[in-house]
Amino acid sequence: MNFALQRLALTILEFFLPRLCVFCGAPVGVEAAVAVCPECEGQISWVDSPLCPRCGAVFISREGVDHLCRDCQQDPPPFTRARAAAVYDGPAADAIRRLKYSRRLDYLAVMQHWLRRPHCLELIAAADLIVPVPLHVRRLKERGFNQAVLLARAFPESPLSLEALTRVRYTAPQAGLKPAERRDNVRRAFQVPRPEVIKDKKVLLVDDVYTTGATVRECAKALLQAGAKQVEVLTVARVRPA
Ligand SMILES: [Zn+2]
Ligand SMILES: [Zn+2]
Repeated sequence: MNFALQRLALTILEFFLPRLCVFCGAPVGVEAAVAVCPECEGQISWVDSPLCPRCGAVFISREGVDHLCRDCQQDPPPFTRARAAAVYDGPAADAIRRLKYSRRLDYLAVMQHWLRRPHCLELIAAADLIVPVPLHVRRLKERGFNQAVLLARAFPESPLSLEALTRVRYTAPQAGLKPAERRDNVRRAFQVPRPEVIKDKKVLLVDDVYTTGATVRECAKALLQAGAKQVEVLTVARVRPA
């Protein structure tokens, strides 16, 4: 069977088979944009005010207005603002872990869809260039893909650069490290090999999860030192500060 015929057969098959929720396997209605059922969708905590306008930290109290968090008051980050689609818990955390550690690429379209929520698209509109947080070449070989690059492909309308930023130090995984250790771990881990690519540009860094911000702070520092006009950060999920 030739390729075009195979594609046609697949399309017909997909039309008749019910789409199943990537989280629980329940059938998903044809009207759903992605394969997530209403029950699982209802368990996602979307990022919403009140939050820190700078780092995007979502406050535990759902009362009050946006205000700078203590971290941003004491030690402002080098980036202008960071935002995420969802809080890192429930289905959002599951999706990220399954993509990264179990190579479940079927979660990719779901997360790309989440990244197109209106408050995320605001950052896309403000950016000249999208730069995924790079992996060290050794880590890339171990994992086989960089989830940040795959996620950044959610925005085909915006210029994307995979060469603007490189990871020059192979570092221990950030998971399991304390905040101060995370900062030391990624210190001077990033370089801008060709500053002309980002010079005077508004750069949007894209990654899967914002935990303490240590990695994106270090990326932003390198980009700004190399001449970027502004750096913002967009992630699928954000860990709620303790
Ligand atoms: Zn479900
Ligand atoms: Zn903050």
